[in-house]
Amino acid sequence: MHMPSQFQSRSEIVKTGKMLHQRGYIAACDGNLSVRLSKNQVLVTPTGMSKGSMRSSDLVIVDMSGRKLKGRRDVTSEIGMHLLIYRMRPDVNGIVHAHPRTATGFAAAGIALDQPLACEVVIGLGQIPLAPYGTPGTPELARTLEPLVPQFDAVLMANHGVVTYGVDLQSAYMKMETVEHFAQIALITHILGKQQLLDCAELDKLIAARNKYLAVNSAAPMPVHSSNGNGNGGARRQKKSTFADESRDRESTLLRS
Ligand SMILES: [Zn+2]
Repeated sequence: MHMPSQFQSRSEIVKTGKMLHQRGYIAACDGNLSVRLSKNQVLVTPTGMSKGSMRSSDLVIVDMSGRKLKGRRDVTSEIGMHLLIYRMRPDVNGIVHAHPRTATGFAAAGIALDQPLACEVVIGLGQIPLAPYGTPGTPELARTLEPLVPQFDAVLMANHGVVTYGVDLQSAYMKMETVEHFAQIALITHILGKQQLLDCAELDKLIAARNKYLAVNSAAPMPVHSSNGNGNGGARRQKKSTFADESRDRESTLLRS
């Protein structure tokens, strides 16, 4: 794939930081963004400044061990999370981390966005799992994400926020918008007190559509809302029915409370 120049990547990060701020996905100095420039160089946002008012000269270049190569500011304290994702996912060239309020509300409530409620989200992201809490800025945070990074392109971070990543920064940003939009839809179904999940037959059709339109490794496993115990679909499907069972349990808890 064509890699953008360093100049283009700098202006993409500045533009995307403004969009995150304008949409209210970050407050104060929250959030961080990065782009993979080459095999051993990552362009990333600095710590301690609003991502809504950065200039391209505020950005920092680090190597894959997090050592600063260029830039006058200090690198984001979440650099470990970015490097983990780039190491584990050679297909990823852009990462966005933010605290959009509805999705972060789900993360603070300990609820994953893993129910098949909206067909577009099922096609694009499959499901959005919840990583356990890890102290920001420490290796603990990256460790909580590690088991989820290979399979998922968007992850809720418990009591913290959301991280999304993709083939470029724009695709990572789009996934952040999708996550927050879906969180709002899911919240409304909770307020309405009813969730009508897509059934297995409909999910199978969405899997077929995804395989046709998207690279298979770019989207997470499908959520399944009822168990499919006949062995059709193999381990991935069976594992997913566990998510669905948890969702059902959670749903009944929500309705009771
Ligand atoms: Zn954060």
